[in-house]
Amino acid sequence: MEILVPTLLRIKPDALQKLGKYLHQEGFKNVALFWGEGVEAMFSNTITISLAAASVNVAHSETVFTNDIEDAFKSGKNLPYKVDAVVAIGGGKAIDYTKYVAFVTQRPLIAVPTLISNDAFASPGSSLTVDGKRKTVKTIVPHGVILDTAVIRSAPKHFLYSGIGDLFAKTTAVFDWKLAFKKQGEPVNDFAATVATNAADTFTYYNHKDMDDLEYIGIIASSLLMTGISMIIAGGSRPASGSEHLISHAYDSVAAKPSLHGLQVGVASYAISAIQKETHARLRCDVLESGFFDFMKENPLNKADFLKAVLLAPQIKENYFTILSERGSMEALERFIEDDDLMKQMLA
Ligand SMILES: [Zn+2]
Repeated sequence: MEILVPTLLRIKPDALQKLGKYLHQEGFKNVALFWGEGVEAMFSNTITISLAAASVNVAHSETVFTNDIEDAFKSGKNLPYKVDAVVAIGGGKAIDYTKYVAFVTQRPLIAVPTLISNDAFASPGSSLTVDGKRKTVKTIVPHGVILDTAVIRSAPKHFLYSGIGDLFAKTTAVFDWKLAFKKQGEPVNDFAATVATNAADTFTYYNHKDMDDLEYIGIIASSLLMTGISMIIAGGSRPASGSEHLISHAYDSVAAKPSLHGLQVGVASYAISAIQKETHARLRCDVLESGFFDFMKENPLNKADFLKAVLLAPQIKENYFTILSERGSMEALERFIEDDDLMKQMLA
C-alpha cells in the first residue's frame, strides 16, 4: 500500500513571506493562485513580493466564490498548460475547491491556510456541492502545507476555537472506532489510531494554552495536520470522526443557524465523552483549560436543535457503529445534556 502525505511542511511565523522561496526549492516555476474571498486584498502584497523575489511566475490567478464542483471543474479546464503547481490561499472553502482543481488537472497542490477551523486542510477529501447537495468528494492530499502562525493569530478567534473543537473529537472518535472493533469486528488501523491519539495528546498536554502564543498556535495547527494525515493512513475518516461528528452533521441539517463545524463537534465531543465514561475526565479538562467552554458560554448552540440532532445522529451514516448504537446511550446522553453544569451553559 502506498500512502501519500504532504512532504513540504512549514508551520511557523512569517512563513508567508517565504512562500516564493519554498515553491522555488520544490522546482515550481509557474504557479496558479486560488484566493479565498477577501484574502487577496489582505495578502497579495506579501505574496507578490515573495514570489517575484524567488523568480516564481504567477501564470494564473482567481478568486474562489463557490464550492460547486462544476465551477471547480471549469477552473481546471481554464488552467494554462504551463502551470506546474496550484496554490490555495484562504480558508476551508478555497482549499477544498482548489484541491479539486489540482485533482482534475493532475497538478501538485500547495495549501496555504490563512485560518484554521478544522482538520480538512491536509485531508484527502473536499467538501463540495454536487448537484445542489453538500458532499465529501475524494480529491488529493496536498503536496505542501505552508502555514504562517502569525497570520492564523490575527484571524478572528472563533476559527481557532473551532479548530480546537475538531481536535477534541479525536479522543471520542478513536474510542468509537475501538468500540466498533469490539462489538462488530470492524478492523482498526492501529497506526492511524495512534497518530490521531498522539495529535490529541500533543494538544492536551501543552501547558501554555494562550491563543496569542505562536508556539501554541503551531501546536494546534500541527495536531490538526496530523489528524488529517491519520485519515489518509486509515483510508477513511474513522480516526478523526465518530459519534460526535454524527451529531454535528445532524445539527447542520436541523438547525436554523448552524455554527462552525469544529464548535459543534467540540460541544458534541464533550457530551459524548460523558456516555463513553473513560474519555470524560480528559474532555472536561480540555474544554475548560483551552478556553473553549468560556467561548461557547458566550456563543452557545441552540439547545432544542442540539437535542434533535442527538436523536437524528445514529441515522446519519449507514453501518457506522458508535457509542450511540449501544442500548440506553441515547437516554443517558439526554440526561447528561439536561443535568451537566457545563453543558447547560454551552447550549441555550
Ligand atoms: Zn471534523
